[in-house]
Amino acid sequence: MKGIQEFPKHYCGVFGVFDHPNAAEIAYYGLYALQHRGQESAGIVTCDGKSFYSHRKMGLVPQVFKGNALADLKGNNAIGHTRYSTTGASHIQNVQPLIVDCNRGKIAIAHNGNLTNAGALRDELEAGGNIFQTTVDSEIILHLLARPNLSADANPLLDTIRRIQGAYSLVMLTENEMIGVRDPHGFRPLSLGKLDGKWVLSSESCAFDLIQAEFVRDVRPGEVVIIDKQGMRSMDAFPDQKRRAFCIFEYVYFARPDSQIAGVNVYQSRIEMGRQLAKEHPIEADMVVPVPDSGNYAALGYSLESKIPYHMAFVRNHYVGRSFLQPSQVTRSMDVRVKLNLVPNLVEGKRVIIVDDSIVRGTTSQSRIKILKEAGAKEVHVLISCPPHKHSCVYGIDFPDRKKLLAATATHEEICRHLGADSVGYLSEEGMVEATHQPKDHFCLACYNGDYPVAYDADVDKEIIERRSVESVSFGELLDKEASQSKLI
Ligand code: SF4
Repeated sequence: MKGIQEFPKHYCGVFGVFDHPNAAEIAYYGLYALQHRGQESAGIVTCDGKSFYSHRKMGLVPQVFKGNALADLKGNNAIGHTRYSTTGASHIQNVQPLIVDCNRGKIAIAHNGNLTNAGALRDELEAGGNIFQTTVDSEIILHLLARPNLSADANPLLDTIRRIQGAYSLVMLTENEMIGVRDPHGFRPLSLGKLDGKWVLSSESCAFDLIQAEFVRDVRPGEVVIIDKQGMRSMDAFPDQKRRAFCIFEYVYFARPDSQIAGVNVYQSRIEMGRQLAKEHPIEADMVVPVPDSGNYAALGYSLESKIPYHMAFVRNHYVGRSFLQPSQVTRSMDVRVKLNLVPNLVEGKRVIIVDDSIVRGTTSQSRIKILKEAGAKEVHVLISCPPHKHSCVYGIDFPDRKKLLAATATHEEICRHLGADSVGYLSEEGMVEATHQPKDHFCLACYNGDYPVAYDADVDKEIIERRSVESVSFGELLDKEASQSKLI
């Protein structure tokens, strides 16, 4: 667990259930299981075949749906969303699922991922007269869906998903259908399940365990599934797209260990990453210590492979929520200590290996090593269960700007010195991929190697954002201008 400055933020979790008498409650528990994917806000939209009902607020799932909140969510169909903002500010109007009432009826959408051509599309839609209610890129999808058909045989859903680019797993609700879509590269996960014979969709299969649904399969990259009273239809919307780009960091850190993705259990893949780490970085030490919770499984894998004893030397305070203080130098060190405390005497005179999933800025790793050394650890070796993060992510993970990533700006020796560690070792790209039992070209590895599977032009987006921020209109000034012109005439 990292400090506030260090934590690569989760993005979003999406969930849907169709034609079930307890739709709202099922969506609630589905979101509960997906809470780790977004802690800023949550929302559920239900439909009874005619009207939509919605409850969306800032906060954690149990805070959002307090008291009788679920009672007002009528209907047998529901979709839900937990959010951490990666695009669009953290405001109530950006809380999903979003709903529109358009010429195609009512449509609600829950979106996980980032569109890489959002700026250009929004610009184009605004130039055509569309007015946006939010600053999230998910609204672009609704505007594209609502556009009148350009030809009689056009399919607005396929036209829309073929125009958007980047990372998206979508769950949508219309008055009589639930739709699931995964982008052609399959950046974000989306699973299909069955509960009491009814279809359910979820970002991760762990939600199916909680609601006691059966995991059927992953929605395939580029697949569109449409569920209605007749059952489920599916089509491959991008038959020519061969390159896959699943976010490998889901296996390293984001997904819950009890989830199953592409037939691989996330827990097992993390254990395997730890075993690989032990093969690549054999170190003589007295104990392997995880940084909880993110390093738990890789540390266990390292211990199993190396036969070095595993010790939970850091005790996590489970009651610490999100930090509410702006970190100063003092509170930053408190932030580290309040979340994790060291078991006294355990490490004194010992050679310690600590295992974590990543080093972002290095600030919290530095503090942990200092705490270990102050407690008398003879040596502290840091091992990371993936390669160094040298590039930012444009597909929905809130890794900071490249300039702020320690591994992008410092040499290996400088990282070691900066952290105060006796040694620092990273898992190789090959070792990480091997732990997932899948081929390398199934993955996005862009934050490690800079090879971005979907192009993104940061300058275009910057130019659009800057233009928008200076284009705020003053109707008063326009009136003054007109008045002065009419005086001249
Ligand atoms: Fe995942 Fe990294 Fe690719 Fe982002 S850049 S999608 S974090 S692998």
